[in-house]
Amino acid sequence: MNEGCGVVAVASRNRAAESIYLALMALQHRGQEAAGIAVFDGEIKNYRGLGLIGEAFKDFDIEKINGQVGIGHVYYSIKISTPENAQPTLLHTSAGDIAIAHNGIITNAEDLKKELMEEGHNFFYGSEEEAIAYLLADSLKERSVEKAVKYAMKKIEGSYSFTLMLNDRVFGLRDPLGIKPLCLGKIENGYIIASESVAIDVLGGEFIRDVEPGELIEITPDGYKSYKLIEEKHKAHCFFEYVYFARADSFIDGIEVYKARERLGRVLAEEHPVEADYVVPIPDSGRAHAYGFSKASGIPVAEGLMKNRYIARTFILPTQKIRERLVQLKLNPVKSIVEGKKIVIVDDSIVRGTTMKKIVGLLRHHGAKEVHVRIASPPIIAPCYFGIDMTTRDQLIASGRSIEDIRKKIGADSLGYISIEGLVKALGIDKNDLCLGCVTGEYPVKIKGERYRFQESLEKWRKE
Ligand code: SF4
Repeated sequence: MNEGCGVVAVASRNRAAESIYLALMALQHRGQEAAGIAVFDGEIKNYRGLGLIGEAFKDFDIEKINGQVGIGHVYYSIKISTPENAQPTLLHTSAGDIAIAHNGIITNAEDLKKELMEEGHNFFYGSEEEAIAYLLADSLKERSVEKAVKYAMKKIEGSYSFTLMLNDRVFGLRDPLGIKPLCLGKIENGYIIASESVAIDVLGGEFIRDVEPGELIEITPDGYKSYKLIEEKHKAHCFFEYVYFARADSFIDGIEVYKARERLGRVLAEEHPVEADYVVPIPDSGRAHAYGFSKASGIPVAEGLMKNRYIARTFILPTQKIRERLVQLKLNPVKSIVEGKKIVIVDDSIVRGTTMKKIVGLLRHHGAKEVHVRIASPPIIAPCYFGIDMTTRDQLIASGRSIEDIRKKIGADSLGYISIEGLVKALGIDKNDLCLGCVTGEYPVKIKGERYRFQESLEKWRKE
């Protein structure tokens, strides 16, 4: 499972590019396929490349990129093939230069593009971000920035945390349901907006607060200004940010991700107790959950699986035979911990089930007496339409299968998933303020052919 992107905006009396570069490095887990930085230096200049940040910027001298305001982006997309597809997206419009970095998916993008083309816009990239830029540019002819953004928000549906530049002004915007995270911080000589608080930490900055759902914030080197553009009764924070996507050392909507994961592990142990010699985390994603499971169950944690840190996620494996060995390349059991023992492995989720099946097989091959699997998210039964790479039901092992069927498929002695109630209790967030689309099949945004939940005030606001 992969996340779809991280965004940053900086306004500073120092050169912004250096701060953005560092912040993007802290957000690298949110996207490894491409990265980009746009800065204002008389006009908006855009620097983009493919790969991890070091690779993407290898041809640019960051120290020589001038400009005190800018935005940045790390990209996850299987579609990306050239640096021109990377973000930020920069367009020269009738309203001036507009640069956009986006985390999320606009679910009505095709309809929007069609409408904009009928109005005479030519698309260079064909992207959602281009559509947003045209919407903004058209609206800015008659409106102030905040009114133009509000107008665009009424037209777009889906999940979005944007960082935006309108010429030399820089903003952050979070969708009315707060599906994706976004936060605000103070850094030396300026301010920052970023997907996660670790991006502020890495600059020695101070976390101020989360950007609220439906809020637009403009930052300058001297301060920030907030525009609360829409207030929805209920939010829809993606629960997977806590379970897996975000870094454990980030705070999202007032909750430390590590603590949330530890609590998930505790609840999992209460809901699915088991007798075992060791709790073995799947590194690194299951570690905090495993510590929570261990504390609640009294079963000691042992690092029974070693991770090869040098197999990068973007590493292209040259042959099918080598690709089939990927799990063994990444993880290898520690014989003294595993042999003859009853093991509980704890992980964040099971998507397709192929990796988990291989891990269970590996542990058995290395002599484990019993292998029990505990999962800190409920079964994923439906796709995500909001920017997470799990797109069709037939890819999901839990779609249309019982827990017993899944257990047999992965070859475990027992299998336990946290319940939806357990998840909600562990996160300490009202159930109605979480997106649970992929585990309930009921979505907070209208999706053709899917069940829609209760976002009535959002509907009303769009029609006003
Ligand atoms: S559908 Fe699932 S992964 Fe997608 S935003 Fe909602 S909770 Fe997150």
